[in-house]
Amino acid sequence: MSIRKFLACFPDEQTCRNYLFSIRWPRGFICTKCGEMRYSVIKTRNVYECINCKTQTSLTSNTLMHRTKLPLRYWMVALYWVASGRRCSARRLGNTLKLQYRTARRLLNKIRYAMYNIESGPLFDFWDRQKRSAQQPIVRRAMLLMFRRARTFVRKHYGRVPKWRRPYYYCEYRFRSNNVHNPSQALMKLIINTCTTIYTLNEYGGFREPRRKPLSPEPLSA
Ligand SMILES: [Zn+2]
Repeated sequence: MSIRKFLACFPDEQTCRNYLFSIRWPRGFICTKCGEMRYSVIKTRNVYECINCKTQTSLTSNTLMHRTKLPLRYWMVALYWVASGRRCSARRLGNTLKLQYRTARRLLNKIRYAMYNIESGPLFDFWDRQKRSAQQPIVRRAMLLMFRRARTFVRKHYGRVPKWRRPYYYCEYRFRSNNVHNPSQALMKLIINTCTTIYTLNEYGGFREPRRKPLSPEPLSA
C-alpha cells in the first residue's frame, strides 16, 4: 500500500479515531479503572466518560500515545514510515511533518518501544551478556551473530546511542529484519501495539515505579 492510498483511508482525525477505537476496544469500550463497559461520549473534547466511576478516558490515554498532543494522523504517518522498512530518522520525520526535532525523536522512541514490545523475549535478549552466556551453545552462537548484526546496524544508522536505550534500537533491527518482506503486517503489528491499553502507566505516561520495600527499622550499628 502506498502512502497516498494509506492516507486516503484516513482523510481526517475522526476516521483515524474511529479506526483506532475499533483496534483498542474491539468489543466495545472498557473503562481502564473499573472495567465498566457503558460510557458516554463528551464530544467537545473527544473523551469517553465511564458511567460507573466517572473516569474520563481519551482514546490515547494509557497507551503508548499517552498524553500525546500530536494529531493522530501524524502517528499514522510515522507508523507507516517505520513499517515500510525505509530508514526513518528523527530529523527527516521532523522535516516532513514540520515538527521540532525533539518531538519527532520522542515519537520515534515511542514507536521503538512498540517494536521492543513485539520483539523482545527471553530467547532474544541478546544484548545482555549474562543471559546470553546462560543459553545453549547453538542458541548462544545465533544470538551472538544477531547481536553483532544489530550492533552494526545501530552504529551505521544512529551512531552513538545511550546504553540504556540500546535494547530498543536492537529490537528495531530485529523488527525490521523480521518484517522486511511484509510491510502491511508490520504496520498492523505496530498499530495494534501502540493503541493497546497499558495498565501500568502513571499519569505522565511513564511506568509506575515498582513498589518499594517496606521500611524496616535500620539496625543501629556502632
Ligand atoms: Zn470506570
